[in-house]
Amino acid sequence: MEPSSELKKVLSTIREFIEKEIIPLEPLFLNHQYAEMMTHLNEKRQMAKSLGFWLPQISQEYGGMGLTLVEHGMVSEILGRSILGHYALNCQAPDAGNMEILIEHGTPEQKEKYLQPLLAGDIRSCFSMTEPENPGSNPTWMSTTAVKDGDDYIISGNKWFSTGAEGANFAIVMAITDPKAEKYQRASQIIVPVDTSGFHLVRKTSVMGERGAGWASHCEITYDHVRVPQTNRLGPEGSGFTIAQERLGPGRIHHCMRWIGICERSFDLMCEHATLREVAPGHPLAEQQTIQNWIAESRAEINAARLMVLDAAHKIDQKGQYAAREEVGLIKFHVAGVLQRVLDRALQTHGALGVTDETPIAYWFRHERAARIYDGADEVHKRSVARRILRRYAS
Ligand SMILES: Cc1cc2nc3c(=O)[nH]c(=O)nc-3n(C[C@H](O)[C@H](O)[C@H](O)COP(=O)(O)OP(=O)(O)OC[C@H]3O[C@@H](n4cnc5c(N)ncnc54)[C@H](O)[C@@H]3O)c2cc1C
Repeated sequence: MEPSSELKKVLSTIREFIEKEIIPLEPLFLNHQYAEMMTHLNEKRQMAKSLGFWLPQISQEYGGMGLTLVEHGMVSEILGRSILGHYALNCQAPDAGNMEILIEHGTPEQKEKYLQPLLAGDIRSCFSMTEPENPGSNPTWMSTTAVKDGDDYIISGNKWFSTGAEGANFAIVMAITDPKAEKYQRASQIIVPVDTSGFHLVRKTSVMGERGAGWASHCEITYDHVRVPQTNRLGPEGSGFTIAQERLGPGRIHHCMRWIGICERSFDLMCEHATLREVAPGHPLAEQQTIQNWIAESRAEINAARLMVLDAAHKIDQKGQYAAREEVGLIKFHVAGVLQRVLDRALQTHGALGVTDETPIAYWFRHERAARIYDGADEVHKRSVARRILRRYAS
C-alpha cells in the first residue's frame, strides 16, 4: 500500500504544515488559552483551505480532497501528530461523521442549511446519542423519545458526552420514534438547532480533571419538549441505527489512524528525550536497556498497527464496510491498546516532565484513555469479533 508519488507530495506538504503552523499553537491549547488559540487556528484553517488541504475525507463534488479511505488514513495519521491537526483541515469528530450523514441522507434543504456551512467550516455540530441513564454499549436501549405532533416532533430526554456541543450550531439527536417497532428500527436521527426552545446545555462534563472548551469538550444536554419539524429527520423514520452503523466503519479507520499519528509523535518525543537526557554525565537515558526495550516494542507495535488499519481501510475501499466488519472490530481495540502502551512508555521516559503539560503526552494520556471506551468499548468489540470467528468453527 505504497502511496502514489502525487500522494507522497501531499503527505509531505501536510506534514510540513502541521509541524510549522499547527504544533506551535499547542502550548496555548494546553494552557487553556482557548480563545486566543482559536483566533490563530482559524487563520491556519484559511491557509489550509488555500493550499487545497481541506476536508480530506469528503469527495471533490462537495469541495473535499476526494481521497480513498486508505489515502485519508495516511493523511489522518499525519494530522494526528498534533492535538489540533484534524480541526485545522475540518475533519474533526464528530463533524466529519455528521458531514457524511448529511451527504448520504440529507434532503436538499438540509444540505443547504446545515451541510454547506459545515463543509465551509463556518459552523460546528455535535452527535447526541449516549444517555447518562442507559448503557451506550447497548444503544437500542434508549429513553429519549421523539413524539409526532402535527407536522413536528417533540423530543424529550437526556444525553451526555455530546462532544463539541459547546458552540455547535446543531445537534444530530438519536431518539425513539416508534417504541413498538423491531429494536433496530425504533430510532431516528433528527437535526436539532441548538437555539431551539427546550435545548439546554446542562454542563461540560469534567473529563480527567478538565472541562475543555468548544470542539474539545463533552457536554450533557437536556431536550425538554424540543419541537422541530419532521422535515428535520434524516432518512426514513426508523433508520437511525442503520445510518449510525454506516458511519462506524470509516469513523473507526479515522480514529485508529489518528491514534497512530499520536503514537508516532509520542515515539519521536520519547526517542529525542532519551537521547538528550543524561542520567549521569555523558550517559544518556538511551543507553539504558529498559528504554531501548520500550523503543523497540513501540516501533514494532506501531508498525504492525498501521498495517492492520490500512488493510481494513483497503478492504472497505474494495468491498465495502460490511465485508470488513471483523477487521474493523480488531483494529478498534487493538490500536487503542497500542496507543495506551506507547503513551505510557513515552510519559515514563520523560519522568516528571511527562506529567506536565509542557509536552502533549500528558493531555493524550488523560484524554485518549477513552479510546478504549468510545465508538464501542474494547470488551464489546472483542466479544463480537470472537463470536464471528467461532461461528466458522460451529458445525
Ligand atoms: C471522550 C468520549 C467522547 C464521546 N463522544 C460521544 C459523542 O460525541 N456522542 C455520543 O453520543 N456519545 C459519545 N460518547 C459516549 C460513548 O459512545 C459511550 O461512552 C460508549 O458507547 C460506552 O457506553 P457507556 O459509557 O454508557 O458504557 P456502558 O455501556 O455502561 O459500559 C460500561 C463498561 O461495561 C463493559 N461492557 C459493556 N458491554 C459489555 C459487553 N457486552 N460485554 C462485556 N463488557 C461490556 C465495558 O467495559 C464498558 O466500558 C463519548 C464517550 C467518551 C468517553
